[in-house]
Amino acid sequence: MYGTKGVTRALHSNARQFSTATRLQASGLKINSDRLWNTLHETCEWGAAHRYGEKPTDTGMARLTLNDDDARVRRWFGAEVQKLGCTLSVDQMGNMFARQPGRLNSAAPMIAMGSHLDTQPRGGRYDGILGIMAALEVLRTMKESGFQTNYDVGVVNWTNEEGARFPKSMCSSGVWAGAIPIQQAWDLRDIHDPSVTLRSELERHGYLGDIACSSDLATGYPLGAHFELHIEQGPILPENNRSIGVVRGAQSYRWLNMTVQGQDAHTGTTPLSARRDPLLASSRMIAASHDIAKRHDALASTGIIRVPSNASTNTISSQVTFTLDIRHPQDSVVHAVQDECLKAFEAIALQDGKGVSFDWTLDTDSPAVKFDDNCVASIQAAADQLVGREKSMLMTSGAGHDTVYTSQHCPSAMIFVPCRDGVSHHPTEYCSPQDCAMGTQALLEAVVHYDKFRVEAEGQKNKYTEIENSKIFGSYIYTKLCTSASADSDIEDPAKWNKENVGP
Ligand SMILES: [Zn+2]
Repeated sequence: MYGTKGVTRALHSNARQFSTATRLQASGLKINSDRLWNTLHETCEWGAAHRYGEKPTDTGMARLTLNDDDARVRRWFGAEVQKLGCTLSVDQMGNMFARQPGRLNSAAPMIAMGSHLDTQPRGGRYDGILGIMAALEVLRTMKESGFQTNYDVGVVNWTNEEGARFPKSMCSSGVWAGAIPIQQAWDLRDIHDPSVTLRSELERHGYLGDIACSSDLATGYPLGAHFELHIEQGPILPENNRSIGVVRGAQSYRWLNMTVQGQDAHTGTTPLSARRDPLLASSRMIAASHDIAKRHDALASTGIIRVPSNASTNTISSQVTFTLDIRHPQDSVVHAVQDECLKAFEAIALQDGKGVSFDWTLDTDSPAVKFDDNCVASIQAAADQLVGREKSMLMTSGAGHDTVYTSQHCPSAMIFVPCRDGVSHHPTEYCSPQDCAMGTQALLEAVVHYDKFRVEAEGQKNKYTEIENSKIFGSYIYTKLCTSASADSDIEDPAKWNKENVGP
């Protein structure tokens, strides 16, 4: 009933060239790269837009959250996972959780593979979509091979990740994580039609589920882990000739809003020595922020600069506001760049004529996110098997993803694969069949690796539960698990780690 239209039989790509067969595979499974590629592009019929070439797949996407095409692909996804024997649950934000039972029949939360099926209005075919199609392909591969994980595994389709139609990105993983109040998310209005809310669209399509959108064990849908495969959306992997990015966290950023105050003056009659020119000062400040960030290997960007609407060619402006977005993987570097910028701005403010004054506010402070060491170790192990260290690299995500929110409540990490020229949020976004397949195989191997690790960790937990001294217990298990998890593991906070992963 929800079958795709079968338009893309001609999609047979060079996907068969995918060649992990020569490498040792821990799971013994091999994903079907043709099926992955065809399924991805067949389902992109729902929402295809912005044709740029002759081939059937030469289009972008406009599958905005909870529009009719998004509802269609959701129904198709629900039917496909149920065909595989998964149970499907939908929460109050329309997040879809497909769950496949593991051998242990454990009631413990499942190991999830998650991403999103919604796109930007001029988006591509891979951002988010690849993560869901890869997860489905992993389940299909396991099913047809009769392979069962120990713990339950599954897929999550997070609602409104893009925040393009209802303006809040990573919206429903944010609600799930407790970072965004559900009422605020439900009340989000369609940017083109304010009479439509996110909640009214959930209701219209039958996706207002009855499970709380929460990681709470009693009322919500907690997860045992969260793995996300995503295109890199940047140029680092291709520039370094790497095929798998092992993503260990998301970078820190701060957004400042600067207001520079000067004085209106006639450009012809006011000598330089008598001027207070905020636009000249702002220009110097923006250039200085760039130089300072560069010295720290950080990024400082100005996206908005405003002069009064009544500015004119022959008048020096009275006031200028501009934004400053500072980013680096480490919070301390972001703070250092900010401090140096503000110091430099003070000097610049005095530099020309009679000088200017400036003020600033902090609009957003988003500290660095560190993903779970054991999840990262599982992805690294998968990358080592599939491509080796020379073809993978540890990375920090420059953009936000649902995994940033899930990492607040369950062990999480991400896999990046290259996309052509780093182009994303654009119709020509492209990830090759080989890279799609390699990322999907890495996702499978990482999940299988983590599942085994979890059995070992739980086994050790049960073995030592009789030991009464919880302090001895905690440090023993911590040491054991650190040594067994990964040589690269650098778990920073044993107390926190024990609490979340070993015992109450
Ligand atoms: Zn995405």
